[in-house]
Amino acid sequence: PVGDRKYKRILLKLSGEALMGEQGFGIDPVVLDRMALEIGQLVGIGVQVGLVVGGGNLFRGAALSKAGLDRVTGDHMGMLATVMNALALRDALERSNISSRVMSAIPMSGVVEHYDRRTAMRYMEQGDVVIFSAGTGNPFFTTDSAACLRGIEVNAELVLKATKVDGVYSADPVKDPSATKYDWLSYDEVIENKLEVMDLTAIVLCSDHKMPIRVFKMDKSGALLNIVVGGEEGTLISE
Ligand code: UDP
Repeated sequence: PVGDRKYKRILLKLSGEALMGEQGFGIDPVVLDRMALEIGQLVGIGVQVGLVVGGGNLFRGAALSKAGLDRVTGDHMGMLATVMNALALRDALERSNISSRVMSAIPMSGVVEHYDRRTAMRYMEQGDVVIFSAGTGNPFFTTDSAACLRGIEVNAELVLKATKVDGVYSADPVKDPSATKYDWLSYDEVIENKLEVMDLTAIVLCSDHKMPIRVFKMDKSGALLNIVVGGEEGTLISE
């Protein structure tokens, strides 16, 4: 049902933590397989998929810095962690017969391809899932910013941010039972109310380029597919 899709090209951001499942560290192969299945459904209806994966399940520069490491070194470690996650994700996708590529913002000849925008777009056009790894390639940024950056660069129509909860709430719904969910927010509302959706850099970038963001729950089976056919999942952030 190719005609059913609302979006032709999307950029999906998966946090590193989403890959570790119930464990406290590392990668859970069962979770990877489930993600591959959900992503495969998009590819199946002809949606072009770009992925940006985080590294928080392995290393975060800010946390390493707190423990005494140099911040830039820590950020480099964090970016390398995202490459490891990307390799694991590609492996899971390929095992599900979904053709995929890993590109890295940091050249890593012999392991993954170096990021090139036009090549990435060509891969997506031919139906390959492209996993953008190593974030932006620069310290002091996050993979949320990388997701927005790559999404804008490759002309994706929507940035999808997979989270643990099914959208953006007025407070943490786990801690505060009176927290309410927003169906829609403007970029300015997110910024003014300091809602913890993505870091400020990422939101401002999307706002400047009018890139809509949808925050949704990855664990909810079928949610991803529902979004690309125009369903109302989670929270939409737009102009
Ligand atoms: N990172 C970076 N530059 C980037 C993207 C990521 O330095 O452009 C580093 C940073 O240290 C970050 C780590 O990589 O903490 C892992 O990324 P992130 O925290 O965004 O992962 P997530 O929270 O999505 O798992």
